[in-house]
Amino acid sequence: MTENLTILGSTGSIGTQALDVARKCGFKIKALTANSRIDVLEEQIREFKPEIVAVVDEKSATDLKQRVKDTNVKILSGNQGVCECAEYKNADTVLNSIVGMAGLEPTLKAIEAKKTIALANKETLVAGGSLVTECAKKNNVSILPVDSEHSAIFQCLQGKPSNKALKKVILTASGGPFFGKKKEELKDISVEQALKHPNWSMGAKITIDSATMMNKGLELIEAVWLFGVTPEKVDIVVHRESVVHSLVEYDDNSVIAQLGVPDMRIPIQYALTYPERFESPVKELSLADYGKLTFSYPDYDTFECINICRSAITKGGLYPACANSANEQANLLFRQGKIGFLDIARLVRETVDSFKGDKDYTLNDVLETDLYAREFVLSHIK
Ligand code: NDP
Ligand code: MG
Repeated sequence: MTENLTILGSTGSIGTQALDVARKCGFKIKALTANSRIDVLEEQIREFKPEIVAVVDEKSATDLKQRVKDTNVKILSGNQGVCECAEYKNADTVLNSIVGMAGLEPTLKAIEAKKTIALANKETLVAGGSLVTECAKKNNVSILPVDSEHSAIFQCLQGKPSNKALKKVILTASGGPFFGKKKEELKDISVEQALKHPNWSMGAKITIDSATMMNKGLELIEAVWLFGVTPEKVDIVVHRESVVHSLVEYDDNSVIAQLGVPDMRIPIQYALTYPERFESPVKELSLADYGKLTFSYPDYDTFECINICRSAITKGGLYPACANSANEQANLLFRQGKIGFLDIARLVRETVDSFKGDKDYTLNDVLETDLYAREFVLSHIK
């Protein structure tokens, strides 16, 4: 259970909700980081009084230093600064809510410094799966999931009899804003349309990942690493209402689910109070108000990113890192209006198809794969 908390990516959707949880649960904030949004960060410094803060963008870090020189906070800059916050001695828990694989090195630093990890940054596990899990094992560090589906599975696994008894984990998917649509209808989707998620309000990158359902592919890989299951033991079911957050099935065909209104403060709080449960400001779930809950199979032809990810993790090695980085680049290009919606999946597929990398890997290999995938995507925009 957390007492002293560091939040990496505190200015984002998860970061600000984590601070809301920290405010209500009374956790002390020791370190915060952001990329460049110093207006939000300045307010956070004044309210939560962290001891150190890092801003990736150098100029924003210099500006922030000026703005908060009336306080005692120490301002660091660059990725190096974020890593220093990750390993900062006065915190016991690090919540990583950085977006993208920029979160990988800070996660590793935090693990090496023996912090408990509350992990929202799924790209960390997708890109660096074995590096992260082996490092955690070596340092005897727990990785507690924040992603709602993985928090649900983690909750369903409390009291689990033995590893053998687990038959599968079942991830629920909202289906995103384009549920029911076919490929031909998605050709001319605008950025604004793709940014309208039916159930969750999230950062831009993950919202686009939900529209392509790459998010569910990344979550499949995340589940493999978090729960030590093989990819074929991870099922996906579309559940439009986002009330059942995920399920596990045991060998006796008993299925256990975790439910709640869709609000990330529940999984964030559980990761931070585990193994305890505190009261929450989140609304109670009233099933009768919903009336009915629906479930259906994903449309794998339209949302091909799910199977690209399944095949990448089945092949293993650096394939998931390659798929993740290709997606990060393609997702950004789409948000910048430089490619169409369907180009995202096409570019991820072409990048992974062009790649060879089914071997054990080091951090350096993951970083090289990142460069390869981004360059491949940039040179294959049609
Ligand atoms: P946001 O875009 O809202 O926030 C991202 C945070 O990371 C911000 O603090 C941002 O700083 C910082 N950041 C951006 N780029 C970098 C970088 N290169 N190096 C260091 N820090 C950086 O994202 P979300 O909060 O939506 O998502 C965060 C993570 O949590 C993602 O991995 C996402 O998949 C996962 N997640 C999110 C959910 C949600 O509901 N939002 C649900 C489940 C998982 P700045 O503000 O200065 O740009
Ligand atoms: Mg999720």
